[in-house]
Amino acid sequence: EKEKKISDQEKVQKKPSEPAIFIPVDRSPEVQEARLKLPVLAEEQVIMEAVRENPSIVICGETGSGKTTQVPQFLYEAGYASDGRMIGITEPRRVAAVSMSHRVAKEMNLPTQVVSYQIRYEGNVTSDTKIKFMTDGVLLKEIQKDFLLQKYSAIIIDEAHERSVYTDILIGLLSRIVPLRNKKGMPMKLLIMSATLRVEDFTENQRLFRTPPPVIKVDARQFPVTIHFNKRTPLEDYTGEAFHKTCKIHRMLPPGGILVFLTGQAEVHSLCRRLRKAFPFRKGNTLKMRKPKPQREAGIGDEEDGDSDLDLGDDPADAEEKADGSIPLYVLPLYSLLAPEQQAKVFRPPPPGTRLCIIATNVAETSLTIPGIKYVVDCGRVKKRFYDKVTGVSSFKVTWTSQASANQRAGRAGRTEPGHCYRLYSSAVFGDFTLFSEAEITRRPVEDLVLQMKDLNIEKVVNFPFPTPPSTEALVAAEQLLVSLGALEEPPCTGRLKDMQRAKLSCPITPLGRAMASFPVAPRYAKMLALGKQQDCLPYVIAVVAAMTVREIFEDLDRPARSEDESSKLNQRRARLTQMRRLWAGQGASLLLGDLMIMLGAVGACEFAGCTPRFCENSGLRYKAMVEIRKLRGQLTNAVNAVCPEVGVFVDPKMTPPTEHQVVCLRQIVLAGLGDHLARRAQGEDLVDPKWKNAYKTPLMDEPVFIHPNSALFKTLPEFVVYQEIMETSKMYMRGVSAVEAEWVPQFLPQYCHFGSPLESPSPWFCSSTGTIRCHRSSTFFRVGWQLPAVEM
Ligand code: ADP
Ligand code: MG
Repeated sequence: EKEKKISDQEKVQKKPSEPAIFIPVDRSPEVQEARLKLPVLAEEQVIMEAVRENPSIVICGETGSGKTTQVPQFLYEAGYASDGRMIGITEPRRVAAVSMSHRVAKEMNLPTQVVSYQIRYEGNVTSDTKIKFMTDGVLLKEIQKDFLLQKYSAIIIDEAHERSVYTDILIGLLSRIVPLRNKKGMPMKLLIMSATLRVEDFTENQRLFRTPPPVIKVDARQFPVTIHFNKRTPLEDYTGEAFHKTCKIHRMLPPGGILVFLTGQAEVHSLCRRLRKAFPFRKGNTLKMRKPKPQREAGIGDEEDGDSDLDLGDDPADAEEKADGSIPLYVLPLYSLLAPEQQAKVFRPPPPGTRLCIIATNVAETSLTIPGIKYVVDCGRVKKRFYDKVTGVSSFKVTWTSQASANQRAGRAGRTEPGHCYRLYSSAVFGDFTLFSEAEITRRPVEDLVLQMKDLNIEKVVNFPFPTPPSTEALVAAEQLLVSLGALEEPPCTGRLKDMQRAKLSCPITPLGRAMASFPVAPRYAKMLALGKQQDCLPYVIAVVAAMTVREIFEDLDRPARSEDESSKLNQRRARLTQMRRLWAGQGASLLLGDLMIMLGAVGACEFAGCTPRFCENSGLRYKAMVEIRKLRGQLTNAVNAVCPEVGVFVDPKMTPPTEHQVVCLRQIVLAGLGDHLARRAQGEDLVDPKWKNAYKTPLMDEPVFIHPNSALFKTLPEFVVYQEIMETSKMYMRGVSAVEAEWVPQFLPQYCHFGSPLESPSPWFCSSTGTIRCHRSSTFFRVGWQLPAVEM
């Protein structure tokens, strides 16, 4: 019997459907030449043999070794896209998906209808697409529609070392999908690609792959990089330190590009400015470039960007630089929110007679390889979003990076010749870095993932083969939230304690939950969409949800001025933009929708003006964000129409302002989605402590939280509000605040209410002090239904 099994297995492996064809690709001689230099090319045979013989393989190779651009081409040439199926590649970053698809199309001399990309808001995939780059989130959505991913013959999971949540989940899912496909006689291949050798979480995880997939190492032919540690470690001003180090390198060291790693956009721009000042281009020409730039990111400012066509020359005013005869420094910023045209510049050779200098965030660490870098300056830090496990409060913090990523950064210097890496910290500090960065899944709330998995009929999410499982705590919190949103059935509260505990982690999905899972937004927003059809509110709900889920739609009013003379201008601008937001927030009834009314007003006004870069610039809106909102509105409208075709929403981009009645309805819909983000104004005894002045209390936190001065409700300070999120900056600030009527609380959130007299209550948190709250205990209908409860006004 055993023998028979083996021969069966062999049969599966040696299926005649295994392609052994060769599809020719017509590459230009230049591309051909550049390719030959890539280390991964030497491994083509080994890789393709491994692919043929194994359902899943892992490829490890230094950044820049050619994995992303070449491996899809290997598969293409071996016929993996010739039977009507596609080769899919996932990237954790949108930037990489777009830019790599263009690059590969160009290398293969194929149109973008054939080598295409798909990200959340856009794509150029056609029925002719053979190689498809996409973000990992996009593929996850596709698995929901077709668990077997029948459109694909091979899936490449790129940048697996980044351990992004979706990548982790995809690997878990694909570890099941690949054998299923083989069983059904439609073999599919899985290739996991990593820039580090640390792949045990994938290969030695029994729950993932019963037989560990082979690991192919691409010999990176890396040149030696000399590491220089700082003697001391600047604790605050590492940007200043980076400036001095870069100047020194530029003045004293032989030619070769410089790559500086900082942590965020603001730092990147500030250093770009300082360096451009120190080693400038001729003034006259620079001024010529300062015409209105449509693509300019409002509030970020990028005046000198775009100077590649300039005559180069030293600034006569800068005597010192002239004296030591430094050539001009060609300074370019690089970060993920940068406009694509600006990003593409880093791949082009710098103008002759200049030295390339790229100031980047960690996008340059592994996803994009910049040619010609010989010197790396590493601040040793990274900006990360942190979530409080209990409260969900998030904050961006700059922390030390890991040893693995510091080494990745250093490696950028040794791609074409021996290089140098200047670490702006001491070797002792380096020794204290963690070895590797944590998987993202262990650091963030997982309710969206849990809902997606339930929709894939994975009821016991705890048993899912995660490469690194999230904490049980996080999973329980996610199921609880989903139950309260009505997306999952309530777990039974009878039976043995142990069974009850277990049931809490395996609640089945409800029909509402399925509808919510089909919307491409997080569960809280999905709930709002599901409720939106009432009172013709849907177009507004769609606009608000789109605005809430797009990153930073407003220019940052609190950013510091970059120079003295900018300061007064900035103040004027602030005043004008604040005025504008007040206008959008409206008066009376509509004002109570708060910050969400501002968003609604902004979206409407922007569309009315034709969504032009100019309008955005003048109104303090990020053009890129507004374009995303427009696309997302279209996408959400389609998604809602697909779920409830009888509603037939038609979104008029401009929207007429909502009626008073609709505003009330909208506020309730927002409460239904954000109910667990309720806050009540501090009162009574609390106010004895001055820290509670104008503060709010939330169920999960002891700390006071505040309405931000830029909020529409800063002056109103309603008794109850819901908020989109709490960001910790100088204080705990609620973002996206909307007012809630006290009467709505017991009806929507009975779990927070005590229905007796205030005196009996152990924690009279939301108990009405006057006892006038009418209680409607049964909220079940509301939770699983699609209607708001009838609330008396
Ligand atoms: P890996 O995925 O292993 O990090 P890539 O396939 O991304 O490597 O990069 C291979 C080479 O292709 C690098 O030398 C990189 O500089 C080059 N490359 C990638 N994208 C572009 C582009 N848009 N223009 C020019 N060269 C590029
Ligand atoms: Mg890559």
